[in-house]
Amino acid sequence: MNFVRSKPIKTTVLAAATTLLSMSAQAQDEPRQVLFTNVNIFNGVDDGLIENASVLVEGNLIKTVSTDPISAEGAYTVDGEGRTLMPGLIDMHSHLCFRNGMLEFRDGYDQMAAGAYTAFAMNDYLDQGFTTVRDAGCNILGVAKAVNNAIIPGPRIFPSGGFLSQTGGHADTGSFNDRIGDQDKLEQGRVGFIVDGVPEVIKAARHNLRAGATQIKIMAGGGVASEFDPLHMTQFSVDEMEAIVGVAEDYGTYVHAHAYHDKSVNRAIDAGVRVIEHNFLVSEETVIRMKEEGVALSVQAVMSLQAFGDPESITFFSADQKAKATQVNKGAEQMMKWAVKHDLLMVTGGDMFGPDLFRQADNILWFNDKIANNPALALKTATGNAAEVLSWSGGMNPYKEGTLGTIVEGGYADIILVDGNPLEDLTSIKRDTVDFVMKDGDVYKNWLPNEAAPAFQPAGPERDAYFGNN
Ligand SMILES: [Zn+2]
Repeated sequence: MNFVRSKPIKTTVLAAATTLLSMSAQAQDEPRQVLFTNVNIFNGVDDGLIENASVLVEGNLIKTVSTDPISAEGAYTVDGEGRTLMPGLIDMHSHLCFRNGMLEFRDGYDQMAAGAYTAFAMNDYLDQGFTTVRDAGCNILGVAKAVNNAIIPGPRIFPSGGFLSQTGGHADTGSFNDRIGDQDKLEQGRVGFIVDGVPEVIKAARHNLRAGATQIKIMAGGGVASEFDPLHMTQFSVDEMEAIVGVAEDYGTYVHAHAYHDKSVNRAIDAGVRVIEHNFLVSEETVIRMKEEGVALSVQAVMSLQAFGDPESITFFSADQKAKATQVNKGAEQMMKWAVKHDLLMVTGGDMFGPDLFRQADNILWFNDKIANNPALALKTATGNAAEVLSWSGGMNPYKEGTLGTIVEGGYADIILVDGNPLEDLTSIKRDTVDFVMKDGDVYKNWLPNEAAPAFQPAGPERDAYFGNN
């Protein structure tokens, strides 16, 4: 059970546990302290670095951020050796249970395989320095609960649960010969809900929220990776969308929508949707409206600029899906440039799975290189901006003890150390230069030469048994 990946293997759970035991003997009731010294801080909000700083973590929260030396007797000291300390990255559009799109697991595997794959994906996210994801649709509510209860390791998950789609909508993965009322295999696996009319959409939204969904994801228009919905299509009536938004608001949270073009985006905003996923084919007028009404944009730069720029490379797409991808590629670059020009609230939402799973940082890099040319802005899409949108889940936010996405006193100890200055060379946020990953005060990756704090620990009684404390 070694959840920490080391290069070379320096930290093992056994060694870490021994360290913890000697530590806990000396300070039985005190929360563990970890002191980072000799770091430059990107705090997730400001454009520059705080140079030559120190950060003290106590338990799972950041206690002190200072450019003066911090004295903390008994703390583990992590010498950053001039690395950049920054918030753990946040991906705002994951599908943790997908490997190659929606259809592979529908046809060839089962829920056990999807769950096992999800565990693999979560560990990989952590290894890349992503300590939080907003999952935009999967049977993920039980996994999110298990991560929160520290039963399994993973990034913090803000789960949407199964996405809501109308018959013939973007998540309808049934067969041509389906009869009305037939449930397709993905729906049976609770990856999505195919719902029509106000009572059905209300029921599905409440079904997600009762099990811990932190926001609701709807399909408001045609998509690329689906069979029955042409790109130009608008999905869900205003009545249906308003009903879903009403349910979300009753739970103190919000709705985000898959939508590509003016008609579906504007209808979603009319109904009260607060975050648009994709948005690739809208006009500048719609971008301006989003700015004026505080609607956020979730950006998929790799998908739209790189993958859809070469749809032949996506082996699991049909000819029709490839044609749709080409159309989207043409609109996306222009739309994102308007979004930067009008200063939309933007977050990075990779929507990357399959081979792309292993390079989530590229979504931030492509946005910077092809569109923004502003590394601080690109980093904020994965830190401060992302945390702002996550906070809209209000009462449903499972993480109320601290703030996310920022290095501030009272913030969660979700911290990564990268070798380099990402404001000068953004590639330093790629996996191979992410040398240290802490989530909630626990260490998931340590490539530093010094022996640092203990690894992931199970919670509660299991933690005590694990470390022999009872
Ligand atoms: Zn998606």
